[in-house]
Amino acid sequence: MSATDWYAHKSIGEGLYWIQEKFFDSSNRANIWLLRGSHQDVVIDTGLGLRSLPDYINTKCLLGDDPQRKNPILAIATHAHFDHSGGLHQFELVGVHSAEVDALANGDNYETVTWLSDREIVQAPWPGWRARGYRVKAVQPTHILQEGDVINLGDRQLKVLHMPGHSRGSICLHDGDNKMLFSGDVVYDGAIIDWLPTSRVSDYVSSCERLVGLVDSEQVDQVMPGHYQTFGAKRLHHIASGYIDRAGTCPARFSTFAWRTLAGLALRASNTHGIC
Ligand SMILES: [Zn+2]
Ligand SMILES: [Zn+2]
Repeated sequence: MSATDWYAHKSIGEGLYWIQEKFFDSSNRANIWLLRGSHQDVVIDTGLGLRSLPDYINTKCLLGDDPQRKNPILAIATHAHFDHSGGLHQFELVGVHSAEVDALANGDNYETVTWLSDREIVQAPWPGWRARGYRVKAVQPTHILQEGDVINLGDRQLKVLHMPGHSRGSICLHDGDNKMLFSGDVVYDGAIIDWLPTSRVSDYVSSCERLVGLVDSEQVDQVMPGHYQTFGAKRLHHIASGYIDRAGTCPARFSTFAWRTLAGLALRASNTHGIC
């Protein structure tokens, strides 16, 4: 199967595209965001990496059809989990938060939470492909990101917000001028995952307090999440404040503990294979 068949995209307008892997039928299927700038283009999250994302972007002329236009493309992973980082190796310029550089450089299946089954891939990318052989290919990031870094696309800027909790090096990218937040797995319109081996509830609560602050200070209108549909400021406030309210309760603590134990065992046992 060619790259052209593997992905599908939708234009959101203003040089922003939403790309998805058509044949990855799972709640782990991550959103891939392509954002065009006047001087630099950015891909936010890269999917599993089973087919060439750069080929798809070029074939579909998502960066325009002007052969003179040769902006660098920076691929950024909002965090190192396999559903976001699997395609990073296909790009020359790669950015990730400093806390997750080692996970990517080592191709560590435990930290990348690599968990994929044959039934989630409804059409094999090539004959004989099997999920058990899937790995996130090791990649050495060229851009090691920190809180407060600004990624300059020319006519728009993305500020790096370090938002640990789901994972140590989870980031959101904030386009303050357009009040847009690329939120990765820090927040999406679904169950929040705070029970992975590198998750931490106290950090997650702080990150959610920050999200609530962004809404209260009217810095976000639209959220482009790592999974599921886009949503607005009101929903962001609801999800983040709901998590803060629940996080310290006994049932939540017990469930986090139980899930973390199971996830740790499963990941160690396979040490080959993820979860969001
Ligand atoms: Zn994810
Ligand atoms: Zn994740």
